[in-house]
Amino acid sequence: MKKHNFSAGPCILPQEVFQEASQAILDFNNSGLSILEISHRSADFVSVMDEAQSLALDLLGLKNKGYKALFLQGGASTQFLMVAYNLLNKKAAYLNTGTWSSKAIKEAKLFGEVVEVASSKDKNFNYIPKSYSIPEDVDYFHCTSNNTIFGTQMKEFPPTSRPLICDMSSDIFSREMDFSKFDLIYAGAQKNMGPAGTTLVVIKEDILGKVSREIPSMMNYKTHLDKESMFNTPAVYAVYVSMLTLRWIKSNGGLAAMEKRNQEKADLLYAEIDRNPLFKGFAAKEDRSAMNATFNLVDESHKETFDKLWKDSGVNGLNGHRSVGGYRASMYNALPLESVQVVVDLMKDLEERI
Ligand code: PMP
Repeated sequence: MKKHNFSAGPCILPQEVFQEASQAILDFNNSGLSILEISHRSADFVSVMDEAQSLALDLLGLKNKGYKALFLQGGASTQFLMVAYNLLNKKAAYLNTGTWSSKAIKEAKLFGEVVEVASSKDKNFNYIPKSYSIPEDVDYFHCTSNNTIFGTQMKEFPPTSRPLICDMSSDIFSREMDFSKFDLIYAGAQKNMGPAGTTLVVIKEDILGKVSREIPSMMNYKTHLDKESMFNTPAVYAVYVSMLTLRWIKSNGGLAAMEKRNQEKADLLYAEIDRNPLFKGFAAKEDRSAMNATFNLVDESHKETFDKLWKDSGVNGLNGHRSVGGYRASMYNALPLESVQVVVDLMKDLEERI
């Protein structure tokens, strides 16, 4: 039976990427060797790393603008502390929009003072705070563009004279934006970019070198910039599959086309959430994420029936995160509109049965 994969991450990637990636395990570039058994310093792999870095900057419109792309390890969670290690001298400002922002704040507090400019914790993070001000004397401002668990997404970013740092783990490469307003962007690969195991860090080089503390080599962005993501053995396969996915994004129309498709999928699902009296959306309407739609049953007693319906129909990964309950439909770039239609039809089906 065809599967419809709404998993929050790791998640669906393009079928073409799975095909090509599996072939490279058997025979990479007709070399008679698997990509898994060659040196990361071989010409074949170095060109993979170069292309992945170049595609990332190209898709974000950041080529030749003073930015470098790195493929590091340790997940976005390691970036929570690397950002502060490298950039926090005295004080940093953070916007708290959910679990991941809270974790970033916790790490930053190990390095200096953290000003939480606003938080949506009062309503279980179901909205994005809007009116807050960012102090002028902070080293940087940090925010999370898309809150994977709660299903909220920042549609606008506050103007600030301070360096702007953003965790884009769950919506990178999903929409067009002026990315040059950010000074550092990071994202775990395992949503729109590729498999788990590597983390993209896009960094404007001139923000570095402003802290006085000693930074261990692996935690230091400069180490990785100097060695072009090859200071230690990179996650070769994760970088390779990310490179294939970035190629796929580019050849399928880039971020403009991704955004259009993602918006169509989100509009289709949210329209049904709002129309169907059995369901209610979790996130505030104006802050709804196009990547992760969170919704609940109005009457929880229908849970068993609905769960059986979608599980029997090949739908995977629709369960909500435990901190929200209900359902979460993650609609990353590679998810076809057709899969969203299947869930919408099942919601209608439930309505007819009750
Ligand atoms: N930030 C966001 C927005 C996330 O969604 C996640 C993981 N789902 C993380 C950070 C943590 O990423 P990792 O597991 O790669 O450390």
